[in-house]
Amino acid sequence: MNEISCKICMDLIPLVQDGIASEDSREAVEQHISKCESCAAYYSGEMPPVADTDKLMVEVKRKVQFFFIMLLMFGIFFGLGLTASSELFYNSLIMPVVGVFGYVIFRWKALYAVPLLLLVTNLISFVLNVFQGIEEIGLYSRVMWTGIYSIFVVVGIMIAGLIHYAFRKE
Ligand SMILES: [Zn+2]
Repeated sequence: MNEISCKICMDLIPLVQDGIASEDSREAVEQHISKCESCAAYYSGEMPPVADTDKLMVEVKRKVQFFFIMLLMFGIFFGLGLTASSELFYNSLIMPVVGVFGYVIFRWKALYAVPLLLLVTNLISFVLNVFQGIEEIGLYSRVMWTGIYSIFVVVGIMIAGLIHYAFRKE
């Protein structure tokens, strides 16, 4: 029996389920869904059909998104780590870049998601530092810096959003 592609399998599944497919088609589908999770899910009615190329795109998108989430978190940790240092001013460059990553991941929701992430990360490191007795910024300053960084983040989000808007395909 020849192997069939996901596309052919999904075309055949309705015929098999209606009992009008040939014996060969039915066997081919059964053989395919025994190995292919997504077609099996479609067969059992759990999932709408997804073509091979769509599946690949979803997989690629997920990997790219994960990569940008790592970059975003790295930027936030790195940037916040500079708050108490003399390299503080680098954040006027880092935070807009963090905003760009945020837009790639969250689109316009980044406008509140990234400032929220900044605040939460700041509060967590405040609590951790207090417990270790090494806190030197203080809660009030941390909240203030979160606000200032958020302005830079929003600038980055706006730039990314406008570029995306300008170059999107109609
Ligand atoms: Zn398949």
